[in-house]
Amino acid sequence: MKPKIIYTKKFHCDDDHPIVYYVVDENNKGMCEYCGAKFIYKDFYDKAQEEKELLDMSMKESKKQKDERTPSEKLQDDLEPIITAPMMDME
Ligand SMILES: [Zn+2]
Repeated sequence: MKPKIIYTKKFHCDDDHPIVYYVVDENNKGMCEYCGAKFIYKDFYDKAQEEKELLDMSMKESKKQKDERTPSEKLQDDLEPIITAPMMDME
């Protein structure tokens, strides 16, 4: 099964079972004891993925240069990364 990418060390799983909360281990990996789903903390994820993101960023940069004739401050907002992380608090 393909591991799910998570963006925080705390994560939860509720796939056809009661919701349970976990924290990734020292290897930045975790596994759900109910359904066996695997999780991997993004910072640990494949360097290739990181390089791909860097490439995307440089592509955006070159696109931005082309758009220089019509500068828009709103474009900068679009560059903000969208992080969908579970904001669960166990305390
Ligand atoms: Zn699960």
